[in-house]
Amino acid sequence: MLPGTEKISQESQTPRTNLLGKRESELVQFFADIGEKPFRARQVLKWMHQRNASQFEDMTDLSKSLRDQLDAIAAVTLPTVISEQQSHDGTVKWLFESGAGQAVETVFIPEPDRGTLCISSQVGCALDCSFCATGAQGFNRNLQVDEIVGQVTHANRQLPARSNGKPAVSNVVFMGMGEPLANYRNVLPVLELLSSDYAYGLSRRRITVSTSGIVPNIDKLADDCNVALAVSLHAPNDALRDVLVPINKMHPIADLLDACWRYAEKRANRFITFEYVMLRDVNDTLAHADELASLLAGKPAKVNLIPFNPFTGNQHKRSAGGTIRKFQERLQQRGLVATTRRTRGDDIDAACGQLAGKVRDKVKVRLSEKGRKTARH
Ligand code: SAH
Ligand code: SF4
Repeated sequence: MLPGTEKISQESQTPRTNLLGKRESELVQFFADIGEKPFRARQVLKWMHQRNASQFEDMTDLSKSLRDQLDAIAAVTLPTVISEQQSHDGTVKWLFESGAGQAVETVFIPEPDRGTLCISSQVGCALDCSFCATGAQGFNRNLQVDEIVGQVTHANRQLPARSNGKPAVSNVVFMGMGEPLANYRNVLPVLELLSSDYAYGLSRRRITVSTSGIVPNIDKLADDCNVALAVSLHAPNDALRDVLVPINKMHPIADLLDACWRYAEKRANRFITFEYVMLRDVNDTLAHADELASLLAGKPAKVNLIPFNPFTGNQHKRSAGGTIRKFQERLQQRGLVATTRRTRGDDIDAACGQLAGKVRDKVKVRLSEKGRKTARH
């Protein structure tokens, strides 16, 4: 266990206003309501997100009377940690409590030149992609702003700083549990905090939202906070994508790609990453590679192949190493930038798509409660 975990896991929920998930404009309003100047917002943001303070008494550039007042009406509450696991490759996975016996997962992946935190945005996911452990668990609820940004706060407080003295987390990817663009209301303030100089100060290139393709919200994101975008494509035609990624029936590939190119245009044509999970005998032939290359030809696109990570109860199999290599080479021959994601943390079930946390599927819970009621009457 890394130092300090016990202390933070003991922090408990209080009815006071939690300032952790408040963005600058909301804190300005909060301080205005108690007769304080707007600059208090920036002071408190820095204390919470850069100087690791949870207690107002530690915020020494606030007056004693303000600190006492804040103590009475507000708090800085991080999500409660249920467990922490470390993989032999240095990957760390935390399980955070998310109410009603449920949990979400966060994974830290250390690399020589960066520290990437993979965060969750929902308790489960309603979109039910055929190869995803989170999807198989069903959906319960959206995470709140403090529950999402708190994953980053916690990681930075627990992990040693980088060799350049900067916090451990240099990059954030929304590739944990849930579909971030289905929780847009709460994800957008998190993006603002991650990129704010008074909070995490990350360049937008170091923040990646991964989506299965909720087209209207891709357009919104382009206008609101154009961070890096990754799109879970996984199939080069609608017939196959309808089966693997069911949201495709609502937003088919042509519409999705149009939104992607509009997005890229607003980001000075920075590349969009297309994620493509390699499923044996399903989407991994050279004909699929050719079809994919034709879809993306001449566009600001790169392809990231993800070897499928198996989990109990799922029938898919991972494509063979040679198949993945040939698929990647074919894309490269066709002029695309294509890489294969290295599987990290699979010994602690922290690899892509293995994150299942603990979710009470709302529909299933309702149905089983109905069943119980029917049985009683
Ligand atoms: N909901 C978002 C982000 C979370 S999933 C999305 O779908 O993009 C992060 C990535 O892991 C996605 O590309 C997803 O398709 C992929 N993934 C899901 N299950 C997987 C599995 N079992 N093996 C490999 N990748 C998986
Ligand atoms: Fe949801 Fe993404 Fe998993 Fe699909 S791959 S079920 S969108 S978390």
